[in-house]
Amino acid sequence: MMIGVGGNNGTTLCATILANRHNMVWHTKEGIQQPNYIGSLLRASTVRIGTDPVTGKDVHVPVSDVLPMVHPNDLVLGGWDISSVALDKAMERARVLDYDLQRQVAPHLAVIGKPLPSIYYPDFIAANQEARADNLIPGNDKQAHLEHIRADIRKFKEDNGLDRIVVFWTANTERYSDIIPGVNDTADNLLASINSSHPEVSPSTLFAVAAILEGEPFVNGAPQNTFVPGVIQLAERHQSFIGGDDLKSGQTKLKSVLAEFLVNAGIKPLSIASYNHLGNNDGHNLSAERQFKSKEISKSSVVDDMVDANRLLYKAPEIGPKGVPVGKGEHPDHIVVIKYVPAVGDSKRAIDEYYSEIFCGGRNTISIFNECEDSLLATPLILDLTILTELLTRVKYRKMSGETKEFVPLYPVLSLLSYMLKAPLVKPGTDVVNSLNRQRNALESFLKACVGLESNSDLLLETRIW
Ligand code: NAD
Repeated sequence: MMIGVGGNNGTTLCATILANRHNMVWHTKEGIQQPNYIGSLLRASTVRIGTDPVTGKDVHVPVSDVLPMVHPNDLVLGGWDISSVALDKAMERARVLDYDLQRQVAPHLAVIGKPLPSIYYPDFIAANQEARADNLIPGNDKQAHLEHIRADIRKFKEDNGLDRIVVFWTANTERYSDIIPGVNDTADNLLASINSSHPEVSPSTLFAVAAILEGEPFVNGAPQNTFVPGVIQLAERHQSFIGGDDLKSGQTKLKSVLAEFLVNAGIKPLSIASYNHLGNNDGHNLSAERQFKSKEISKSSVVDDMVDANRLLYKAPEIGPKGVPVGKGEHPDHIVVIKYVPAVGDSKRAIDEYYSEIFCGGRNTISIFNECEDSLLATPLILDLTILTELLTRVKYRKMSGETKEFVPLYPVLSLLSYMLKAPLVKPGTDVVNSLNRQRNALESFLKACVGLESNSDLLLETRIW
């Protein structure tokens, strides 16, 4: 169930799953196009499971074959939107898919029809979204809104005979919520604040709480701090799963690879300057200062751990009188700019300049121009996150030492989803890993460990000795 199902990502996801399910083929100016799941780590990439002892060659299998996981074609789709436009018309409004595909998929989307009414607190998204907001759960009572959303989740589950609902925020980016002691800092305070309709409880936090109380996982595909401390505590209390934040589709994904490559090659990035412009509704919403701020924060921390790991290139922070580091230490200059340019629609442009110090005072500049349909990069990530989340809710482990020997579920914050997320949420007190390679390695190793396969190693000693 998507929050924001009537948006570009929501409608593109629904339409492409339907195209795959019904094996629709469509005409483009290039010729006949078949549906596929390119861009999905689970459905379009493989994992090396070992070496064939006879031939000595590597053996690869599709990631989706390592453990039993839901096929995207089998997902039941639904959700909420503050816009009442039915999904077939909303797909048209998004202007992402080829006309011939839209034409074929529209009758199927019309069956899903209008999104469920949602909650809209105008203070959290840009004022320019107001004209869309015509499909609202009435009133201002946040407790009543919470009960309404919980009932929607239960009904959808029952009506469709489902085992599991994954609740997914793919609605507009909200502004950050202030973390206020007594309001949203603990689970009990947050529940009390919902009860008293406190203005600092955002719609996304309310949806997360509803999912947690229903025992269904919640994933945040946008950058805002939905997971205020009270939400994390509530998820722990109810042993309910959460994951986020912000889909890592293009620029940041490349940055997490390129920055690591440079730093690991012993080259010192001095500045990383990133410019974006896009013309879809997401870009319109991000043209407002407070919503842009959420995105800026989410895009900014991506190189921190790589820089911290190399104190040969970057000076460590000074140690204060109490033995505590002061500041962050030396760091490359890093800026992010996002502009709304309606003409380019969903075709986002990302321009990045990496300016680095090389041997003996030399300088190196790498410039990248990245152009892509934003929603066609993002929707396979929504699929991967949904399917992996469902899988991880079924994984149980037990410790061989200690008192309890029973099987228990994983910790509620699903950091194994990090590969698809710009600002990964991790267990409080543990380090965030931004390196895309390490994130993928963690996921592969985990999936393999579940079936008793050795984790990844490139030691390959047999190829290096006599
Ligand atoms: P979009 O503006 O096309 O869609 C968002 C939808 O959410 C709209 O239909 C809007 O009416 C709805 N909405 C807003 N507030 C709501 C609420 N309270 N309840 C229910 N619906 C609500 O945006 P999009 O391009 O689909 O992107 C969705 C989100 O994903 C954005 O926050 C964006 O920043 C994030 N994201 C997108 C990408 C990408 O590559 N497309 C990458 C990273 C993150």
